[in-house]
Amino acid sequence: MNSKSIFKNPYYLSLIALIIIFFLIVLLSITMKYEKSIEDDMFKISTSDVFQITEHKANYIKNILGESDNYIKDIKSDKELRINIEKNIKNLITDNIQYSYMLYKDKNDIFRFLIDGSPENEKSMLNQKFDVTSKKWYELYTTKEPVVIEHQVLQKLSISYLVPILNKDSVELVLVIDFSINKISEIHNIIMAMKTGIILILVVTVISLILLIFQLIRYRTMKHSSFVDRLTNVYNRNYLHHIEEKIKLNEYILVVLDIDYFKRINDTYGHDVGDKVLVKIGNILLNTLREEEDIAIRYGGEEFVVLIKTKNENIQASINVIDRIFTRIREYKFFIDNEKYIQITSSIGVNTKPGSFENFKKAFKVADLALYEAKNSGRNNIKYSEEV
Ligand code: GH3
Ligand code: MG
Ligand code: MG
Repeated sequence: MNSKSIFKNPYYLSLIALIIIFFLIVLLSITMKYEKSIEDDMFKISTSDVFQITEHKANYIKNILGESDNYIKDIKSDKELRINIEKNIKNLITDNIQYSYMLYKDKNDIFRFLIDGSPENEKSMLNQKFDVTSKKWYELYTTKEPVVIEHQVLQKLSISYLVPILNKDSVELVLVIDFSINKISEIHNIIMAMKTGIILILVVTVISLILLIFQLIRYRTMKHSSFVDRLTNVYNRNYLHHIEEKIKLNEYILVVLDIDYFKRINDTYGHDVGDKVLVKIGNILLNTLREEEDIAIRYGGEEFVVLIKTKNENIQASINVIDRIFTRIREYKFFIDNEKYIQITSSIGVNTKPGSFENFKKAFKVADLALYEAKNSGRNNIKYSEEV
């Protein structure tokens, strides 16, 4: 097969598409892994200091609060204490850290502001409700460990860092800072472009593959229906034309089979009965021949061409196959109704060495001549080319 036909063959194209899809998926997963590791590194670099400072501050506030049964009550009732803590929390605010505040959870599990270190114009009131969007807020009360909550806002990664302040081994307050990291946008853009490109090619390839498979199925069913005789289910003459040039005649013996006095069956019992007989002949041929190796073709009305594959110049096995077909047709009882049946015979001409002829037509002519002899010598017999 030359390179041109490889690209025309839908099987090869499907295979190529599958390979491309495989590589694209590998590429995509590598890109995504790479993106994840860059993000993780950037995250670590940009956050470790901030986290440390916040934890330190939480510790410091706990020290200010000292020994107490209820921090919330203490803060609410002591204005000086409140101002002191607010000052400390305010200290956390930088270019990156936009908000810092302290929350508590009320009896109904609602988070509320206790102290807000945010700029005056954005400051929340004492006891003002705070809506949480993540379960992590509640998990903090059991893990008693700081929690990171990430929100992706366009190019920016926005982070809330929650540090619990414990009183007698249970979480009573939560110190929170909100800050954002500008992603290294160029790298991000390149990775995004690569990802989009890969996904786009992947989608196009998958669609092409699906179309190709559809075409393949259509092509195969069309080819099948245009090469098979509807009545008898054996190949038709189109198929013979299709293989005529390519077939290696020296690997086959060539048989021409014609039903004897078929016209009489039509005339006596009607065309429908004639059709049923033909269907059965097709059946006998297909059941007697080897599916992968031999070829049965309806050449015309009630005439069939059969190519039987021979092995190692040993044609006896193939001759036995012809005998079997011949006998099965002769012995078959075609029932006209429940009781009445007819039997038919066939005449067969065989060219045992079609390979020694220049082309199919010439080899066929010899088999046809043998058939003519079989008809002439009283029908219901088999004639071989050597005898003619
Ligand atoms: P011979 O022994 O010499 O072969 O005689 P024959 O009657 O079999 O041959 P002939 O060529 O005279 O007639 C063949 C008949 O086959 C004529 C035609 O009507 C019939 N025939 C051809 N195709 C079909 C078909 O598809 N269905 C039916 N029922 N008959 C068909
Ligand atoms: Mg006939
Ligand atoms: Mg005929």
